[in-house]
Amino acid sequence: MSLNIKGIAASSGIAIAKAYRLENPELTIEKKSIADAGAEIARLEAALDIAKTELAAIKDHAYAELGADKAAIFEAHLLVLNDPELVNPVKDKVTNEHVNAEYAMNEVATMFVNLFEGMDNEYMKERAADIRDVTKRVLAHLLGVNFSNPSTITEEVIIIAEDLTPSDTAQLNRTYAKGFTTDIGGRTSHSAIMARSMEIPAVVGTKVVMEKIQNGDLVIVDGLDGEVIVNPSEDVLHAYEEKKAKFEAQKTEWAKLKNEATVTSDGIHVELVANIGTPKDVKGVQDNGGEGVGLYRTEFLYMGRDNLPTEEEQFEAYKTVLENMEGKPVVVRTLDIGGDKELPYLHLPKEMNPFLGYRAIRLCLEEQEIFRTQLRALLRASVYGNLKIMFPMIATLDEFRQAKAILLEEKAKLVANGTTVSADIEVGMMVEIPASAVLADQFAKEVDFFSIGTNDLIQYTMAADRMNERVSYLYQPYNPAILRLVKMVIDAAHKEGKWAGMCGEMAGDPLAIPLLIGLGLDEFSMSATSILPARTQIHKLSKAQMEKLAQKALNMSTAEEVVELVKSMS
Ligand code: PEP
Ligand code: MG
Repeated sequence: MSLNIKGIAASSGIAIAKAYRLENPELTIEKKSIADAGAEIARLEAALDIAKTELAAIKDHAYAELGADKAAIFEAHLLVLNDPELVNPVKDKVTNEHVNAEYAMNEVATMFVNLFEGMDNEYMKERAADIRDVTKRVLAHLLGVNFSNPSTITEEVIIIAEDLTPSDTAQLNRTYAKGFTTDIGGRTSHSAIMARSMEIPAVVGTKVVMEKIQNGDLVIVDGLDGEVIVNPSEDVLHAYEEKKAKFEAQKTEWAKLKNEATVTSDGIHVELVANIGTPKDVKGVQDNGGEGVGLYRTEFLYMGRDNLPTEEEQFEAYKTVLENMEGKPVVVRTLDIGGDKELPYLHLPKEMNPFLGYRAIRLCLEEQEIFRTQLRALLRASVYGNLKIMFPMIATLDEFRQAKAILLEEKAKLVANGTTVSADIEVGMMVEIPASAVLADQFAKEVDFFSIGTNDLIQYTMAADRMNERVSYLYQPYNPAILRLVKMVIDAAHKEGKWAGMCGEMAGDPLAIPLLIGLGLDEFSMSATSILPARTQIHKLSKAQMEKLAQKALNMSTAEEVVELVKSMS
């Protein structure tokens, strides 16, 4: 039976393939007494063998696809499984206490996890995480429960998941993962953002895909209209194949503007730049005619691994991006961890409201060694291109001043040691907290530029969690309240002779672009795949007319009225 599921269009394009369910099972361990300890140990050994074979395959795959540092995680997992200090006590427990293997394994592993987690030593804390991960795999096999790992997929699939963390998304292999769809999430959740930079079609926030879709079902992910079609009829399949071909043809049309400047019909130039998450995304920026990078989300360097990246690793990543962008501007945002981007190895206490908590610049000003290491890597890399640095989640002038002072301190130390650092690095901030938008006139005196982070600015202004699909109707970029804040920021920048950009998803939204041109935004930073459609659109807009449009919109009372207005003008 064919089935249509509605969701939120998170990454454009159409993908058609068999479903692959990403299972992350909750394991229930019961204590049972067993009569034949020998047979139980044989069962344990069989589960261990399967887990080892799987991990060896994952390790090889990770090595080939993601490099040695990612593969090292799985090497560590294999070491745990081969460690007699873990395995022998499990066997002893089975033999001496006549209990089932899963119970014994769970007891012993929990004991080690608690022991290691309690130590005041980062390395041992990481070992606790390794033990927890591998134990889950072995327990799943003992219990006969499915346990999937997307990095082992070797055929074209659509990933079906309750949720994907940003690091799950980073591990997807673009060759095989043709699209994904999740129960949870919104357009600005980070897995959606990553899907766009990886150019994988995605529909999120469907609420029901895990319930309705089985492994092997044929699935169409329509990332243009936010629909998922399960086991389509021949006719529907054919219609989507055509829609896909049409979208590809449209992309070829857009590509003709790759090397053109972005100017309005009355000759005003704006910058169209890209958001990236890793050095690998630079190719997409070039292929899509990006005039620079407006947001490099460096936190992805810190994710999907067991420890902090070293200064050297970071230096290499930043240098690669700067060199490959060949002198075009590259705005690097310092570490913005927190919210939906977790770093388990920092062992931060769980918070009730992570989006309002200890994150981004707040954490960096506290954990200064992490921050200083990143700043040194950036400063050293600055000579390889046109670097601009920006700080995330700035709420007060004092935070900006402190962050800038630390940057200048690190710069002075490097220079004193004879390291060359670029002399003209612009230092700016993200405006994503309403307080800093309202006070933009004061900030503008001290920053070199603003970049408006509407994903957070909208969630904080509307008090609506960007991850929660039930309140996604409040993600309202066209709400006059948001437009007024955006205007305040742009006007404040211009008054001080500074530039204002936007790197939230609103910057690439075809309905918002006319308004933003009218409000005088200088730089639009978006997913690379949105650049050419945006350039096509901007070529047809007159700045003078858009100013009038924006003026009207600012005086309207609802987002719906603004949408109607924009639609009626185009
Ligand atoms: C934003 O908040 O708009 C932004 C660009 O940052 P992020 O999406 O990474 O929070
Ligand atoms: Mg943000």
